[in-house]
Amino acid sequence: MIRDEDILTIDAPSLTAGERLFLPAILGGMKTTLRHMFALKQRRTVQYPEEKRKLRVENYRGVHRLNRDHDGRVACVACYMCSTACPAHCIHIEAGESPWPDREKYPVKFDIDELRCIYCGMCEEACPVDAIELTPDYSLVGRTRDEMILGKEELLAVFDATRQIKPRKDPHITGYPNSGRPEAGRVDAVLSGTAAEAQDHAARDGDTAAGGAAKAEHGGGPGGDGSA
Ligand code: SF4
Ligand code: SF4
Repeated sequence: MIRDEDILTIDAPSLTAGERLFLPAILGGMKTTLRHMFALKQRRTVQYPEEKRKLRVENYRGVHRLNRDHDGRVACVACYMCSTACPAHCIHIEAGESPWPDREKYPVKFDIDELRCIYCGMCEEACPVDAIELTPDYSLVGRTRDEMILGKEELLAVFDATRQIKPRKDPHITGYPNSGRPEAGRVDAVLSGTAAEAQDHAARDGDTAAGGAAKAEHGGGPGGDGSA
């Protein structure tokens, strides 16, 4: 039971004559509006999709990707940390015995339901080998719910399409070589040519994984985890 002496009575503050007219608040709001109208250098409107916003590559949380290791294999070790941490329960993994001697398991199946995802970033925080990351690509579209569920090959293809603008972090736990950091110019140029870079990269490496960007923008395109 609450004692009388624990109850606080708070009276509403009395308004001054000016506040009763709401003029100071109206003028304050108009001042903010006018400041934004004439601050041309701080223009925030972009003509999307012809013009795309420049985003911070390092921490923008867009479409997921599954990273490859230095041998081109899927870096995931199927530990389930990301799916355990995911508050939206949108990561589904099926683990299998690894065909490689340097790890016990690898993901036979790895799906992310991008429609259920709330893009909180918990999965990439939880991953012990930095195998899953969110990218600065926000242009994921699909005509059906199924198209919005990205499988392993599509997530690997997103990595292929974005690794030039966001190299994989140095995963100390595995001792993989340092993959470097994005150059300043590349950071500024994010999203200005993701698909084109994917094509360039695919052409250089002779793989067909550039479909990741295409999937991210148009919905479709296989990659490969090097296990075949
Ligand atoms: S960003 Fe958040 S909601 Fe989306 S898959 Fe990762 S942990 Fe789940
Ligand atoms: S993506 Fe990372 S956290 Fe998720 S299962 Fe693979 S290794 Fe574990």
